[in-house]
Amino acid sequence: MHPLRVLLVVSLAIAAAVGWGFGALAVSAGRGEVESVVLAVAVFAVFLLPWSGVYLWAVRRASDLDELTMRTRQLVAGIDAPALADRTYHGELDDLGRAIAELRAQLNRQRVTYVEHRAAMDQIVASLGEGLLAVNGEGKVVFANGRVAEMFGVSGSLTGRSFLEVVRRQSLVGAFSRAFAGAASTDRITLGTDPDERRIEMRVFPVASSREIAAVALFIDMTTIERLQRIRKDFLDDFSHEVRTPLAGVRSAAETFEHGGLTAAQEEQLRHVMLRQLARIERLVNDLSELNRIESGELVLQRQAVSLRPLVEELASELRQRSGDRDVRIRIDGEALAVADPSRLQQIVNNLLDNAWKHGGGEIAVALSREEDQSVLRVSDRGEGIPPGELARIFNRFYRVDKSRSQNTPGLGLGLAITKHLVLAHGGSITAVNRAGGGATFEVRLPAG
Ligand code: ADP
Repeated sequence: MHPLRVLLVVSLAIAAAVGWGFGALAVSAGRGEVESVVLAVAVFAVFLLPWSGVYLWAVRRASDLDELTMRTRQLVAGIDAPALADRTYHGELDDLGRAIAELRAQLNRQRVTYVEHRAAMDQIVASLGEGLLAVNGEGKVVFANGRVAEMFGVSGSLTGRSFLEVVRRQSLVGAFSRAFAGAASTDRITLGTDPDERRIEMRVFPVASSREIAAVALFIDMTTIERLQRIRKDFLDDFSHEVRTPLAGVRSAAETFEHGGLTAAQEEQLRHVMLRQLARIERLVNDLSELNRIESGELVLQRQAVSLRPLVEELASELRQRSGDRDVRIRIDGEALAVADPSRLQQIVNNLLDNAWKHGGGEIAVALSREEDQSVLRVSDRGEGIPPGELARIFNRFYRVDKSRSQNTPGLGLGLAITKHLVLAHGGSITAVNRAGGGATFEVRLPAG
């Protein structure tokens, strides 16, 4: 029974006993029966009334308290209880009701902030270029962003699955075991197969501050960075290789000068060697900075409609003069109008004619035409052509088909790289193919005028 009810029953019993006692006393004092009963009832009522008041007061507060307790429990359990301020309570419990109502409002605000915060974090993590995988102490995935699924080629929800099932890499087991033991580790792994091979840096570290997440793995795609590092290394290797030969020539000439005892003719010859080698270094530096300027988009093109035929004819006649005694025959067919920077277009055509003459012998054919919205220029020669395996690399900087054979020729292997980037800067394309009857054909496509 509720303590209040016990109290009421006891109060009733006491009031009845006291009333009955007064009645009995009245009888023994010789009072009339009716008078004694009235007296007993009056005493009973006087005793009972305040107790009943207290009882009613307590019962109402108890029910208020029960309701407040129930609503507070709902709040704690995360159920959004109906507004607590929707009714008033009795006496001081009203203050408690208002305090709980404020607590509810604050909790609701915090819940909204948490949900927003969580949504923003989810969005940020989902849009990361890196893969993020969080696992619990049992190795089950607690969280994984889309990049992880993409990198490891897994579909469906990853949450709740074993991380091994997701990453399928034994090397990760060690990294996660170390993270579970409190140590971070970094490793590089290869995913996929050539040509879609990706180099991934994997950082696995423990998360001591969370009970839900035991370790986190971060997967960073290093493929582009590794490729750039390789390009930089190759460039530096090639550059030092190219500079070393002329520098050695200059040094040995300078040393011979220092020893003295040279005839005027020998001195003249040495001076000539030094100037030639210095000119080669100068050309190398100029070509490289030119290439850099074109590649980095610094070049400003003064585009206009250019008639290709007169331009090719002029350059062909210059080449005939330059070739001196060598027999150069250049045939020009067709005509085309291109939208290009005239001086840069000259540079493109000149490089191709020069190569055809240097590497392909004296018989050169230039064909000009318009194909849809493009102007096409084809420069063909009748030389040895380009070894088929090397066609893909012909436009790389410092590329020469036979480096040892080319050591004494003036080529630096930068002409075609410059040509390609000039064509690309014009929004065009360039390709090289071998002709069926021998020799090479370089095809340039530019926007037509
Ligand atoms: P280079 O200054 O050596 O000519 P390029 O970049 O112009 O540099 O050419 C790169 C290499 O491509 C040349 O060394 C040569 O081996 C090859 N090549 C270029 N044009 C031709 C061609 N018409 N026929 C055969 N090989 C060529």
